[in-house]
This record gives sequence, structure tokens and C-alpha cells, in this order.
Amino acid sequence: MTKNIKLDNDTTIGNKDFNIMAGPCAVESEEQMDRIGKFLSSIGIKILRGGAFKPRTNPNTFQGLEYDGLKILKAIKEKYGLLVVSEIMDPRDVELGCEYIDIIQIGSRNMQNFALLKEVGSVKKPVLLKRGMSATIEEWLMAAEYIRLEGNEDIILCERGIRTFSDYTRNTLDLVSVPIIKNLSEYPIIIDPSHGTGRRELIIPATKAALAIGADGIIVEVHPEPSKALSDGDQSLDFDGFKVLVDEIEKLKVHFY
Ligand code: PEP
Ligand code: MN
Repeated sequence: MTKNIKLDNDTTIGNKDFNIMAGPCAVESEEQMDRIGKFLSSIGIKILRGGAFKPRTNPNTFQGLEYDGLKILKAIKEKYGLLVVSEIMDPRDVELGCEYIDIIQIGSRNMQNFALLKEVGSVKKPVLLKRGMSATIEEWLMAAEYIRLEGNEDIILCERGIRTFSDYTRNTLDLVSVPIIKNLSEYPIIIDPSHGTGRRELIIPATKAALAIGADGIIVEVHPEPSKALSDGDQSLDFDGFKVLVDEIEKLKVHFY
């Protein structure tokens, strides 16, 4: 049985609905986030994503707005009545970061940062634990165990693709991890079709497969102008593309729920 994780009075994850978390890879400006917040709330999406601390491969690229980004997220969340998920990378930012966000994201690169896992285990905020890009299922569940042992059981797992020899996609989205996780644990599991593929045109097919295989939702990158995004534009939908995705989910949902 999948555990229900309550986010607010009318939003839970793991409750047989298909949750959609959407927003840009990175928080770039208040104006950008305002456009996204307004758009998402206008079509009934409740959970906004956006990175303030960005774990970039190249240290010479945009690293995120950090606390200024968290402040923007909080302002947009309050303005449009949204919930916010954002990555925290450093144990020293966990306590303060919790004042701005509703779900703490642990990124793929930090899945085995045990100090960080223990720190998020000791706060009362749901944690979105992304799968390490070369982590086995066992290692992933043991990372969740580090969080749980500190007292925080509100853990949502996120399959975001793993490294394989295949180079057409950025990662190989391991969709069967969904039924495997459902067999081995009670944690809800969502899919990240953006990082899982690296390609905008694969987001809809990957999402449909995620829904059919029993995932509890998705986290997807959406940007008002993907070609101008400071990170991950190629795997971000624009607003029209996102509306098509939501329609496709609604159409398919009736067959599974
Ligand atoms: C992200 O979701 O912003 C991100 C960096 O993803 P991942 O940790 O899966 O690479
Ligand atoms: Mn990204």
C-alpha cells in the first residue's frame, strides 16, 4: 500500500491521483516566476517547481539565485496559492530553506550525501528524493532509510533516469522502478520525464508510460520561453506544450483511476 503524504488540506501525494509538479529548471527572475505561477494556477496546477540552488556540472555556468530565488518562490507561492518544491544542496541551508518551501528536493547528485539526508530527516517537511544517476534501487531505498531513521517518514521518491550507454537521451528513464518500488516500499513515486529523457518531444510519451505503469505523478520542467532558459531549455515545455501534456494526462487517467 502506498502511503499518503499530505501537503495541505486538499493536496496529497500517493492517493491514487496523478500529481503534477511543474515549473522551470531554475528560478531566474521574479518576472519569469510570476508568469509561470499565474499560468499554472489558472489551469489548476497546485505544485510549482523551481531551483534556487542549482547543482550544475560546470561551475562557470549559472548556479541559481540561492536565497533570492527562495524568496521569489515564496512570494509567488503566496500570490497564487501554490505549493513549492525546490532543491536544497547543503545541510546548513535545510532549516532556513524550510521557511520558504513546502517540499525539499534532494537532487540526484546528492542522493548519498548522508549528512544532508540526516538533516532533512530531522525536519518536518516532505522530502522529494531523486534517484542517484547511478544508484541501484537498493541504494536509493537505503538513502530513504537515512531520512526515515531521523524521524521524517514523508518521503516521495522520484525516478529521474539513470546513466547507461544509450546516448540519444540524456538519461535512461527506468520506468520499471515504479512497480519495483511499489513492491518493496510504501513510498509514493513520481517520474521526472524532463531529466529522464533530456528531450522535450519525449516528455508526453514518457509521462503516459509513467501513468500507465502506476506512478503517483510527475515533476516536469516548464518555461515561458524555453529557448531563453538559463538551464535545461531543451527538456522544458512551453505553456502550450504543457497544456497538451495536461490534456493527455486527463484523457489517459480515466482508464487507470
Ligand atoms: C532538478 O530537478 O532541478 C535537477 C537538478 O534534477 P536532478 O537532480 O535529477 O539532476
Ligand atoms: Mn533541470
